[in-house]
Amino acid sequence: MNKEILKDIVILYVEDEEDVREFTSKTLEKLVKCVKTANNGLAGLETFIEHFENPDLPTFDIIITDINMPKMNGLDMLVKIYEIDSTIPSVITTAHNDVNFLKKAIDLGVRGYATKPLNLFQLLESISMAVESRVLRKQLENTNKELEKQVSQRTIELQNIIHKLEVNSKELLYEATHDHLTSIYNRQKFTTELDYEIKRANRYNNKLSIIMYDIDSFKNINDTYGHDIGDEVLIAISNLSTKHLRNVDILARWGGEEFMILLPQTTIKDASRIAENIRKAIEKACLSQVLKGNITASFGVCEFIQKENKDTFLKRVDEALYKAKNSGKNIVVMIPNHN
Ligand code: GH3
Ligand code: MG
Ligand code: MG
Ligand code: MG
Repeated sequence: MNKEILKDIVILYVEDEEDVREFTSKTLEKLVKCVKTANNGLAGLETFIEHFENPDLPTFDIIITDINMPKMNGLDMLVKIYEIDSTIPSVITTAHNDVNFLKKAIDLGVRGYATKPLNLFQLLESISMAVESRVLRKQLENTNKELEKQVSQRTIELQNIIHKLEVNSKELLYEATHDHLTSIYNRQKFTTELDYEIKRANRYNNKLSIIMYDIDSFKNINDTYGHDIGDEVLIAISNLSTKHLRNVDILARWGGEEFMILLPQTTIKDASRIAENIRKAIEKACLSQVLKGNITASFGVCEFIQKENKDTFLKRVDEALYKAKNSGKNIVVMIPNHN
């Protein structure tokens, strides 16, 4: 007999003889999880239905029933119960031993019997055999449910980790490509994009221009108004510049108070026009409430020459800016292509 199986089961025990019912149920209670009793077939049926319908009450694993009882006999009760749940095992306790009666019980699906007067060992043996497969199935279902719960918990945890990693990698990518102060692109990102656009320009013979600009006499701004106001001006110039660009253009902070714009598919003429617009806008703008007098910037512009390398391209725009500074500042100087 598998005692382990008995300890988890819930029994509905139906018996009209009080002495037998009390004694047997007390004994069973010591070995199983729970025993509910009823003193006739009708009461047994009602108890079964109550437990079947109420999810807060434990589900019965087995019905043990006497046969001869008032109101409804045990077999009639089982007929009604099997109409509701055809899978529940049952064991009958009986003094009958005629063949017809046993056949009826077997046809009904009764899994075992214990003869009266009750031999408890025989009864337990019958119960154990009757519930074994059901209890094992229930244990398996519970294990499955527990595993499913663990899997879905782990899935949620993993999804959260993936989400955090995605957020982190987005943040890291932002950090690696943007300037902290102005939130525009940084030099690293500009260089990467420049490499890419040079390849495209060489491959498709596209026009490609760059603008380099530098705030005029910026040191004086810091010296006069303080570093924080200098920072405010850098941010304001970044914002103002963005407004003059298409979304394919790359605006970057090149160094302290130097900016670069990469303009794909753009001739030097168009790039100079954009530089001139930004120059005028800076000159006119009120970049900080505390500034007396306007701020200006000088611009160098040049266009990519097929097959030249990145360094010469950057050197030429730097020279253009240098010329602008030497020509009195606040102007746009473009270096025309010689080829
Ligand atoms: P020029 O017209 O020849 O360009 O003169 P300039 O004074 O603008 O040039 P200079 O190279 O002498 O000085 C640049 C100044 O920019 C000095 C430096 O302190 C300031 N600067 C660089 N980065 C920052 C920054 O992030 N914030 C502030 N507030 N100032 C900065
Ligand atoms: Mg009886
Ligand atoms: Mg400067
Ligand atoms: Mg400078």
